[in-house]
Amino acid sequence: MYAELHCHSAFSFLDGASLPEDLVATAHELGYAALALTDHNGLYGSMTFAQAAKPLGLQTITGAEVTLSDGAHLTLLAETSQGYANLCRLLTEAHLGRADRRDPRLAVESLAARQEGLIVLSGCRREGLLPRTLDAEGLTAARKVAERCKEVFGKDRFFVELQRNRVRGDIALTRALIDIAAAVRLSVVATSSHCSKTVLMLSPIRWPSPSAPQRST
Ligand SMILES: [Zn+2]
Ligand SMILES: [Zn+2]
Repeated sequence: MYAELHCHSAFSFLDGASLPEDLVATAHELGYAALALTDHNGLYGSMTFAQAAKPLGLQTITGAEVTLSDGAHLTLLAETSQGYANLCRLLTEAHLGRADRRDPRLAVESLAARQEGLIVLSGCRREGLLPRTLDAEGLTAARKVAERCKEVFGKDRFFVELQRNRVRGDIALTRALIDIAAAVRLSVVATSSHCSKTVLMLSPIRWPSPSAPQRST
């Protein structure tokens, strides 16, 4: 099964150009089973998105790419109705009390407290929590952040996100993120670039657990 889990519509300024209904049409044309809409800090196009997908039988996933207090991005996907409710509350909270209403921020503690029903991906290649830490503080610090995320969200709810944006440094970054995921024993998912017409796929890789019980035959 292929599903795109990181996709911006025109509601994400500078990161998306297509309307939600156009994204749905393209994903359907390409034969994808599901598509997540993850606009920045809001669910602006989610209703249109769901309505456009329904007659086509395309599964939609409601999500958002949130900006944390320090500016790092995380991708959130609602897996259940509780997750959707939590996502709505978190987005409201991110906008509340901000002096600059165009710059919502979410405290990671709030996300930790309302994580039920949400899947968390480590964010885009540019400002994602792990790429950003890697860039600013190096591999050891990024590995620690990944470990902390695993503790907070759990290894079944937090995934290391890999993106290919066809820019310089892509391959090295992908390798570093795969190394971190392997070291911390987290799964990785491939998501799209920030090109609205480029719809790529979910490709989960699960690392074999050394402590997995051997099947007795
Ligand atoms: Zn993004
Ligand atoms: Zn981002």
